[in-house]
Amino acid sequence: MDVRPFWLAGEPATGEDELTVTNPHDGRVAGAAAVPTSEQVERAVAAAHAVRRQAAGLSLHARAEALAHVSRRLAERAEEVARLISAENGKPILWARGEVARAVSTFRFAAEETRRFGGTAQRLDTEPAAEGRLAYVSRQPYGPVLAVTPFNFPLNLVAHKVAPAIAVGAPVIVKPAPATPLSALLLGEILAETGLPAGMFSVLPVPNDRAGALVDDPCLPVVSFTGSGPVGHAIRERVPHKHVTLELGGNAAAVVLADADLDHAAARVALFGNYQAGQSCIAVQRVIVERPVLAEFTRLLVAAVEALAVGDPADDKTQVGPLVSEEAARRVADWVAEAVAAGATVLTGGERDGATLAPTVLADVPAGAKVLAEEVFGPVLVLQPAGSVDEAFAAVNDSRYGLQAGVFTKDVATAFRAGKELEVGGVIIGDVPSYRADQMPYGGVKESGTGREGLRSAMEDYTYEKVMVLTGL
Ligand code: NAD
Repeated sequence: MDVRPFWLAGEPATGEDELTVTNPHDGRVAGAAAVPTSEQVERAVAAAHAVRRQAAGLSLHARAEALAHVSRRLAERAEEVARLISAENGKPILWARGEVARAVSTFRFAAEETRRFGGTAQRLDTEPAAEGRLAYVSRQPYGPVLAVTPFNFPLNLVAHKVAPAIAVGAPVIVKPAPATPLSALLLGEILAETGLPAGMFSVLPVPNDRAGALVDDPCLPVVSFTGSGPVGHAIRERVPHKHVTLELGGNAAAVVLADADLDHAAARVALFGNYQAGQSCIAVQRVIVERPVLAEFTRLLVAAVEALAVGDPADDKTQVGPLVSEEAARRVADWVAEAVAAGATVLTGGERDGATLAPTVLADVPAGAKVLAEEVFGPVLVLQPAGSVDEAFAAVNDSRYGLQAGVFTKDVATAFRAGKELEVGGVIIGDVPSYRADQMPYGGVKESGTGREGLRSAMEDYTYEKVMVLTGL
């Protein structure tokens, strides 16, 4: 079996250990990754630190050209990359192809943003005391970025950290999820073709119990983390003095109001509650429906969920594949059983076969049940009736999380009200909360995180405004 090298300061390398990755669908080996030793990790960090000034001094066109190269090469190798994502993650090839297409765009958007990343001049002579002075304001990188990424989008969420780092001239060290390191290592191969200075990037698939050393390292002043709440919050507590961006979980709600196009809403909720076996931070989990349309919407939703193609992720037609592991599927099935024991009704689904859980719709779920209050991260939709728009919006906000919400309505005033009242980072009108365009600001409030991704927003997160005042003009 081929073992993919990791990337140490832009060079392929192997360590003393390796990590075998299996496809959760059939348990077949998807590949293996070389694991760096602690000494190799230290070398990668030292190289990033050493190159930081050279990186910050790279011309905008050199950064933009490197980013455009990555975008082009990912597009050229799209099918190979999609197959790799599907094999390591169990993600249906349909969605894996979509993820690669998005990563192609993410790097392209970063190349475009780089060319707009110049500074501005500000005249200071608005006050007599500042006559003859001019401020030049530019954004400077804090320094090397540690990018810690989850398993569910093993390429595009790495892209969302690597691309803005290169764009601002910051070295980046990627620590991919141990379940899915292969596509990040393949990205390393493409990054190595760019001719960026040595030390500008490393991809280090270190196990979780050694990741803390990277988080603590004073040479990595920025930690950009996407993953679960408990791990993210522990990182913030561990390094309160660093610039920490947290993109965490949620229990996203879709609101279906009485004036909605019910066929459209049911089709979208069914698909985006289940599209990566529910393993997206903005997968629909809670479905809040106005009472006058509840019966009709429920009928349409159950039919749409039952029509989803569940099966082998390598099959072009499959829409719902396995969860990332049998253990993950067992946890979700246990939460469903717990809800049922507390009075919930299963309208469809609920059966588990290995790592695959049949798309499930629940009703009558009591408040406080985990499937409602926590992040399910599985193919489970929970229906909640609402007596009015007020009640529906209050139900959305009745959550520790606040990533995105979707509202199906045709009424413009209600849409604007949703935009104002829903306590989330993004409100999607006429569609599910699961919509994300890679160039838009993206992130959460409450326990869903702090900071924003989306190229421009991440570039701002990785940099500070620096003022240079010219005197005697
Ligand atoms: P996770 O928290 O288990 O792991 C995320 C990353 O953190 C992995 O690389 C993991 O190896 C690393 N990690 C684990 N322990 C660590 C430690 N002690 N120190 C440093 N790093 C450590 O999350 P996951 O299961 O891979 O991903 C699923 C979670 O990610 C869900 O909660 C989901 O909602 C969230 N997520 C959020 C977004 C977003 O943009 N808000 C996007 C995708 C996923």
